[in-house]
Amino acid sequence: MLSEPRIFPQYTRRIGDVSITSIVDDVNPIPFSDIVSLAPDEAERTLLENFQPSPIIVPVLCFLLLWEDRMALVDTGFGEPRGRLNETLRDAGVDREDIDTVILTHMHPDHSCGLRLPSGEAAFPNADVVLAKAEMDHWDDSAAMERATERQRERYFRSARYQIEPYRDRLRWADGEVWPGVTAVPMPGHTPGHTGYMVESRGERALIWGDLCHVPGLQLPFPGIKTKYDSLPDLTAQTRERNLGWIADDRILIAGMHMHFPGYAYIVRRGDAYGYVQEPWVL
Ligand SMILES: [Zn+2]
Repeated sequence: MLSEPRIFPQYTRRIGDVSITSIVDDVNPIPFSDIVSLAPDEAERTLLENFQPSPIIVPVLCFLLLWEDRMALVDTGFGEPRGRLNETLRDAGVDREDIDTVILTHMHPDHSCGLRLPSGEAAFPNADVVLAKAEMDHWDDSAAMERATERQRERYFRSARYQIEPYRDRLRWADGEVWPGVTAVPMPGHTPGHTGYMVESRGERALIWGDLCHVPGLQLPFPGIKTKYDSLPDLTAQTRERNLGWIADDRILIAGMHMHFPGYAYIVRRGDAYGYVQEPWVL
């Protein structure tokens, strides 16, 4: 009996002169109970009605940017051994030492744990790290850590401090242009410094929106949905609703860490809510 191949995909498209490669780091099933503001039966019905996988599957994607002789990585996934990012980079002939900037949407385990190797070494030894100052300040805030649950202290606060340690002297705050053609778009709520990044080149643009949606099949039809992972649940919902409006109206291509592979879509208005149209594979 042959075993089923499990090949983790990557996909490259261009925005003007910038090439963006989406890389699957992992695929993460989550329980309906992580969605705290929608009854499980309604969540399941919504997913099935919209031809979305149920139970919920949350892919974890990272985006590699190439421009001229420069290379940046937006988010780092779970890290080894769980995350497949490093293996995929290696297979694609990308040397982690050549990545000059790691751009973080926020510090949660599925986004920032790849900053360090299991040995403790920096996975990106020559990279600056870009993230919002509000994000770092929050995870460094001992009073906030004191107020958190033990699970949050371990999973978020201690983990963020550990991951960022080898990069402390090369942090840059996400403010304005952070890399050629890449501009920070503050989207606070999910975490206090959660940030999207607009990539623009030669009149084309794409918004890497981090975790503005974790489960597009639920948070687009119900933009006010709250999850267990949101630091500031009310602000998360407001930020999502405010941003979805202009993203839909301006017909912005979005790239999401938790969109289904290859991760690119357009947002459309559906009454008071939203839906999405996945971008077809274009070679
Ligand atoms: Zn996430």
